[in-house]
Amino acid sequence: MKLSNNRFCLNCGLPVYGRADKKYCDDHCRNDFHNNRAVHNSRLTRLTHKKLRRNYEILSGVMQAGVSEIPKDELLVYGFQIKSVTESELREDGTMIYGIYDIHYFEKPNRLIEVYRKSDVPSYW
Ligand SMILES: [Zn+2]
Repeated sequence: MKLSNNRFCLNCGLPVYGRADKKYCDDHCRNDFHNNRAVHNSRLTRLTHKKLRRNYEILSGVMQAGVSEIPKDELLVYGFQIKSVTESELREDGTMIYGIYDIHYFEKPNRLIEVYRKSDVPSYW
């Protein structure tokens, strides 16, 4: 049998013999590779959803407390993850609006974060 052109199993790294398009040494390695990828992907989405959920809980808490502004540093202390948002939009006035589901917020120059429900757009817009 001939070693086929330095091809190696994508799962275990051992040399692969046989058909030119073969990527795995056997069915076990092929299944293993796909299962690991599926586990990795679901771990990634779970982690992302967890961050979004946490951010949403924090902002909901702010609104339930009856305030519309909170210092950014206080949000960070609560574990708010600035990069975990579901949407972002640049307003004409240069303000970057971030959204986590139906709650939106933006940062004011004094490091205050104004929080509002998407349905309650501040009156000055
Ligand atoms: Zn293998």
